[in-house]
Amino acid sequence: MSQELADTMLDDQPQKEKINLLGLSASRLSEFFEEIGEKKFRATQIIKWIHQEGECDFQKMTNLSKDLRNKLHQIAEIKLPEVVSCQESVDGTCKWLIRVDGGSCIEMVYIPERERGTLCVSSQIGCALDCSFCATGKQGFNRDLTSAEIIGQLWIAADSFDQFSPKAKRRVSNVVMMGMGEPLMNFDNVVDAMSIMLEDNAYGLSKRRVTLSTSGVVPELDKLGDVSDVSLAISLHAPNDELRNELVPINRKYPLATFIQSAKNYIEKMPDNRRKVTVEYTLMDQVNDRSIHARELAVLLKDLPCKINLIPFNPFAGSGYKTVTNTALNRFRDILMAEGYTVTVRTTRGDDIAAACGQLAGEVNDRTKRQERYKKKLNDIQPLNIMEKRGQIG
Ligand code: SAH
Ligand code: SF4
Repeated sequence: MSQELADTMLDDQPQKEKINLLGLSASRLSEFFEEIGEKKFRATQIIKWIHQEGECDFQKMTNLSKDLRNKLHQIAEIKLPEVVSCQESVDGTCKWLIRVDGGSCIEMVYIPERERGTLCVSSQIGCALDCSFCATGKQGFNRDLTSAEIIGQLWIAADSFDQFSPKAKRRVSNVVMMGMGEPLMNFDNVVDAMSIMLEDNAYGLSKRRVTLSTSGVVPELDKLGDVSDVSLAISLHAPNDELRNELVPINRKYPLATFIQSAKNYIEKMPDNRRKVTVEYTLMDQVNDRSIHARELAVLLKDLPCKINLIPFNPFAGSGYKTVTNTALNRFRDILMAEGYTVTVRTTRGDDIAAACGQLAGEVNDRTKRQERYKKKLNDIQPLNIMEKRGQIG
């Protein structure tokens, strides 16, 4: 057979899917290079190229041999999600709409403050946990994001701020896993992406500046301390099980006492014993904002090293809730402070571009599943049963 014919046949063969190196942690990259018969130190070179230089073209990676560059081109890629739009609020908050494979869109927000710039990153398309006051939850669930799609969000923000060059306009100094989705329901991909955030040869963020927020997937939280030591935020929103069952349905499976104990165990595993859990409490008018709730919360948290972050509810169309009044907010804060807690109030940012907590909706292409889900709900099947059927909760 002539060489020309052989080449044509090769061209006609279905291409094996290329592996996306963007989402591989340092250890997974080392394994990858070993598997393809290359030295493990190539992992350090590549991770630096991608996440410190912002380079996605193998041909421009000048410290790799030409042969290796060609080989990588054949079998691998560095593929980013696509930016659909980026809006900037009058207060400097930025919100991106990002398209991922399959056509759905997620949202990502950057909040600039005097001494830091915080990026709020999504972990899933939609969310199955169905908290009653959350726009993401109201959309239903489409799928988990891959580790490349999670770390790709940080890459996109860094790139748009020129952070890969010395003349950076702004910087991402902190990451919070508080965008769309429940990070612990996408455990492996979130852990891999967070390890790239912390990796010295990538973004090099300190573990104090990366925060995972969870509404209480206890078995996964119990596992987290073995593989990660990022900061932890727990979304409580209610001081007793009866009210929390209504607002955060996963509480029916893992009630408050179990959740709080698991959070306590997590920080106790940390070598640095000064670390505290952040307790998030979204305040809704007449729902969970009374003095009695504040007093009950003070008792509930007495053995947990924590600080409390009060979040005035951010309204969205059809939510059925109203935000807390200033009087109720101040009263709630004062009761907790009088009990000795450190309390902060989250100011709403990016109001004009709907970039606040709980308002992220993106575009979830999952209408069929959504309708199915709502029908099941009408038949009085608990959301948790639905998730169990989907095999998402262990
Ligand atoms: N799933 C995770 C992280 C994403 S939600 C979690 O629930 O912790 C991030 C934070 O925004 C959570 O504390 C969540 O309860 C809060 N939140 C959701 N909807 C909100 C709304 N409408 N107003 C204010 N905060 C909201
Ligand atoms: Fe999911 Fe968090 Fe929204 Fe609850 S608050 S539905 S866990 S994203």
